[in-house]
Amino acid sequence: MQAFTYFLIIYTGSALVGLSLLWFFYDRRDKRSFEANRRRKVFHCVRCGNLYSVRKGDVSFGEPCPECEYNNYELSF
Ligand SMILES: [Zn+2]
Repeated sequence: MQAFTYFLIIYTGSALVGLSLLWFFYDRRDKRSFEANRRRKVFHCVRCGNLYSVRKGDVSFGEPCPECEYNNYELSF
């Protein structure tokens, strides 16, 4: 009886630890991919009307349009 109780505790405990590790891993991965998408800078070309985005950190000097190479500045909301 005693051995069975220990087995039950270890079995349930290891399942809980395993699920917690999986949750932790997938939560961190989702957060990272969400942050990478959120940090995109959006541009609207005033010459051709193209909408585009980049992942650069510093865009204070603008970013050229991929369609017509016109230098545009970041959209601010
Ligand atoms: Zn353009």
